[in-house]
Amino acid sequence: MATVGFIGVGVMGMPMALNVIRGGYEVRAFDVSPAALDVMRCHGASTVDSAGQAAEGAAFVVTMLPTGEHVAEAVFGPEGVAASLDPDSLLIDMSTGLPARFDATARRLEDLGKTLMDAPVGRTSKEAENGTLLIMVGGEAADVGRARPLLECMGDTIIHCGPRGTGIRTKLVNNYLSIVSNIVVAEALSIAEGAGLDRDKAIEVLMGTTAGRGHLATTYPAKVLAGDLEPGFMVDLALKDLHLALQLGADSGSSRSMGTSALPFYESASDRGMGRLDWTAIYNLVRDMSA
Ligand code: NAD
Repeated sequence: MATVGFIGVGVMGMPMALNVIRGGYEVRAFDVSPAALDVMRCHGASTVDSAGQAAEGAAFVVTMLPTGEHVAEAVFGPEGVAASLDPDSLLIDMSTGLPARFDATARRLEDLGKTLMDAPVGRTSKEAENGTLLIMVGGEAADVGRARPLLECMGDTIIHCGPRGTGIRTKLVNNYLSIVSNIVVAEALSIAEGAGLDRDKAIEVLMGTTAGRGHLATTYPAKVLAGDLEPGFMVDLALKDLHLALQLGADSGSSRSMGTSALPFYESASDRGMGRLDWTAIYNLVRDMSA
């Protein structure tokens, strides 16, 4: 079975690498933490003293490091991957880093005749343990096809996002949504508590509506993405209800920064004559503002 060099066996990388071993690959691990390498050895990996050694003769090399700077260091630093990576092998960066940094690393490797593709992961360490990560891949179709059996050891959902660099960009878009919505969820629950509600009952309600089910799963595909702005729920009513919810939060002094930030968008849509359109017309407003 093919050898996989695995660089970075931390919270995510270790369970991912262990699933690669379970998938029948030989794993050759490198990490700056000797303790992490001790655990890897106990689970059947071989371990080496440098990133470059991990790449020697490996069909695939995976990096799962904190940032793009760590990846560049593992690739181009002393005893790095760049020198030993076989031109027929694939280097797969599964870390979350700055796209521009990833692009620069990929171009520099390309000049050496070597291939780097991006395959960052969604979900958490629990899914890393279960081999059920969502993996967003950027790269040539042939390379993605070659990597797929390996990626399927680590994830149950492999999405080819497009050319090189689209995986990491998709990952950041995903994180923007999940990280920002974490705050609005926290504020909504805090407003519920401030109003003296039973939190579990409130959650039961939220999970039965767009609030908990999510715009991407419900309103967007039905309305704005389908080109239909006939109001299911109109912008002006959303504006009225946002004012009401902000007042409820104010009554208990609850944090409501996300709602306060959302207000000008609904006001602007209403001012621009969009008040009687479906509330998902906010997407068009934001696109106009971005342009
Ligand atoms: P971590 O800090 O637990 O693991 C990183 C590992 O890299 C550590 O073991 C560290 O010793 C090692 N390391 C650092 N520099 C190195 C180098 N130059 N050479 C070799 N090894 C080196 O981090 P993590 O939680 O496993 O996250 C890894 C990446 O995955 C990050 O980019 C993170 O943003 C992303 N991610 C994390 C999660 C999560 O839930 N933890 C989810 C999705 C994506």
